[in-house]
Amino acid sequence: MAGEAQADCLFCKIVAREIPATVVRETDTTLAFRDINPQAPTHVLVVPKAHYPNAAAVAQAEPELAGQVLAEAGRVAQEEKVDESGYRLIFNTGSGAGQTVFHAHVHLLGGGDGMHERLL
Ligand code: 5GP
Ligand code: ZN
Repeated sequence: MAGEAQADCLFCKIVAREIPATVVRETDTTLAFRDINPQAPTHVLVVPKAHYPNAAAVAQAEPELAGQVLAEAGRVAQEEKVDESGYRLIFNTGSGAGQTVFHAHVHLLGGGDGMHERLL
């Protein structure tokens, strides 16, 4: 069924707390945690708890959930105090575009000079 947890999915395991992560925010439907290999002073991943392979699949199956992920990204930006200096939200989609974890997630990148983040 769409959205069901996948046994071999890293982010499903983080959502289930089977793998540790530094969680910064949680709602009934979303989880935000720090990227293990940060590319900016603030680098947080926001995921829907439900498993979808990428962001567009979330939006197509559950548009409200896609909105919740974006709203949470905004709240993380406020809590991390990068909302005024500015931040980038990135959805890598497909291995050719650098996606390595096939559970939808948005990268929130902020802080610093805002330039080194262009690598991601
Ligand atoms: P993608 O390349 O799919 O857009 O992003 C996947 C991200 O997940 C990468 O930035 C990578 O550093 C991060 N990542 C991979 N494994 C782990 C992990 O076990 N814990 C956390 N917190 N982040 C991870
Ligand atoms: Zn998953």
